Amino acid sequence: MNAFKCPTCGKLTGGAEKFCIDCGQSLNVVCPVCANSWRFMFDYKFCPNCGQKMKTDSKKKN
Ligand SMILES: [Zn+2]
Ligand SMILES: [Zn+2]
Repeated sequence: MNAFKCPTCGKLTGGAEKFCIDCGQSLNVVCPVCANSWRFMFDYKFCPNCGQKMKTDSKKKN
């Protein structure tokens, strides 16, 4: 488990959290097609496993 920064707010996480402790952003992305999941270290546009377009539920800042 590697520490990484929340892609939404930049808070450093310990690498084990499922959600950001600072902004509530989900830190896992799940491919709707092949159901593989990855740590949400940055915006996944396409699934690294099957190449399908990914949908991340990142929150938008107002
Ligand atoms: Zn955050
Ligand atoms: Zn996939």
